[in-house]
Amino acid sequence: MLVNKTSYSELLDHPKWHKKKLDILEKSGFKCISCSSNEKTLDVYHSYYVSNLKPWEYPNNSLYCLCGECYNKSQYIITLIKRQLRHIELAYNERLFGYLYGLETLTYPMVTIGVMSYEVAQGIGDCWKIPPEVIIENLRDGHIDGYTLRSLSKNTE
Ligand SMILES: [Zn+2]
Repeated sequence: MLVNKTSYSELLDHPKWHKKKLDILEKSGFKCISCSSNEKTLDVYHSYYVSNLKPWEYPNNSLYCLCGECYNKSQYIITLIKRQLRHIELAYNERLFGYLYGLETLTYPMVTIGVMSYEVAQGIGDCWKIPPEVIIENLRDGHIDGYTLRSLSKNTE
């Protein structure tokens, strides 16, 4: 069996990654998506990792352009979330669960979400900026998909 010994940092030097990075930087207008700075050094980050996926094989909407400062802030928040997750009360857990489901449908609109409680609808609403009542009104058999959420989000703007 052939073992792939290419390290991740070597992959980040691959022309395909440089091209992908440039696409994302252009899409972001060469600005940090968090603080809008175009003067700080920018880089492109992955919002998640899948083993065996090369850096340039991720969908564009899973990559984001940030300055180093905002990246560090986001990493701190992620660490805090991971650390505090086990202390969250059940009701808030469901709202957070809904928020994460909402993020999933932002990335993958074909995903259908089961909305089993008001708190889950609140979390989805937090993510999509849609009132939970609107989400509940538009459930089909207790479910909603990303396409429906997208159109509801446009209607409530
Ligand atoms: Zn920034």
